[in-house]
Order: sequence, then C-alpha cells, then structure tokens
Amino acid sequence: MSDKFFKVNKAPETYSNEQCHSVIRREPWRRSSFLVGSIKIIGRLSWGAPEPTWSNEVIYYNFSRTSLINTLTNIVVHHTNNSNSVSDNEKKQKTKGYAALGYHFFINADGSVYEGRPLEIMGSHAGRGKQAGALNDPDWGSVGIVLQGDFHHDDDWFKSNTAAKKQLNALENLILGLNRKYNIGQLLMHREVNRGGPATVCPGSYLAPLVINLRDKLGMKGKR
Ligand SMILES: [Zn+2]
Repeated sequence: MSDKFFKVNKAPETYSNEQCHSVIRREPWRRSSFLVGSIKIIGRLSWGAPEPTWSNEVIYYNFSRTSLINTLTNIVVHHTNNSNSVSDNEKKQKTKGYAALGYHFFINADGSVYEGRPLEIMGSHAGRGKQAGALNDPDWGSVGIVLQGDFHHDDDWFKSNTAAKKQLNALENLILGLNRKYNIGQLLMHREVNRGGPATVCPGSYLAPLVINLRDKLGMKGKR
C-alpha cells in the first residue's frame, strides 16, 4: 500500500487492528447533513443511501498524513445524462462495478445537493488514467460534481438546453464553499480532463458555456 492512500475492498471494520484504522472508517459514509459554505448537503444517511459495495473497492485518501486541503486540487463538472434521482443513478453505477456513486456531489434539478461519495474517498468520475496507479488517475485529488439532466444536443430524446437557475446557483455556491474550505483553484469539465479512454461530451454543449462563465467569474483556472 502507498502511504498516500489505502485501497479498501472489505468492510472498514475488517481493518480495525491495522495501522490505517484511523483512516479506514465507516463514519464518512454516515453523515446526515452538513454545510459546504452556504450550501446544505443532504448526506448519504439522510437520503437512505445503502452501504457501499465494498468488494468493488474504494480508495481512501490517507488524510492522517496529507490533509484533504493538500490533496484536493480540482473540481470536475458532469451531467447525469438522464433525469433520474441520486438513488437511481447510484444503483445504476453499482451495477457497472462501482462501490457507490462515483461523484462526490449530486445537484438535483430543483437545486438540492446530495452527497455522493465522501470527500475522504477518491471519486470515480473523471475517467481512467493514461498510466496505471491511483496517483496517475485523473480522479486523484478531483472533486466530482454532477448535475441531474442531459445538457447535450440531440444524442438522445431527453435533453434540456439549459440548467435551472436554482441548479446553477447551487453549483456556484457549492464551488465557492469548496474553494474556501479546500483551497481548490481549478475548475474543469469532464470533456477537458486529460485521461485515457474514449472522448466524452460531458457535461454537454449547453452546459459548457455556463461552466466557462462560472470559471471566469470565480477566477479559477481551467485546463492546463
Ligand atoms: Zn462526466
């Protein structure tokens, strides 16, 4: 195991006698609700999220050694490409082999914000790395935020040509809160992430200019 992270593929209690026990805990997955800046986040406990499928493996950042402030370096914005709820999206991702929702935050069309996976856990949203290993993965240090909806032209029947004002306000305030708390300076769209695998249009051509505006407004860096 690297000293920067722990790969976990069994229930956290299994690790209780090992050195990493202060990090590998169930607590981050059991939050009811919490604030990020001015935004109230509906924690996994509150929305009735089931236990992660541990056998599908998650990576815990070793935050006892390196703080999350020094680990989290960028935010990646996505769209769900469907109109389903956070639970349904998590269920769908679990059937594809994820331990839990791959994104850290899920912004509903009504502007409410749900916790996907805790920030202490590496996301699974930005794509696979060009080289193997967690530290080369574009998900390393990357906070995943997904907006419920499909903001792309004509690729299927369900689409919308803009996001709801409430949803965009929630996105802005969530990013502001994350920036303040974790000193994150870079805001990317999934389509801009340097990664392996096929190209993606995510978060969609209708949302892209809105994210670029937000990036400018908040003075954040884009793709480097
Ligand atoms: Zn995406």
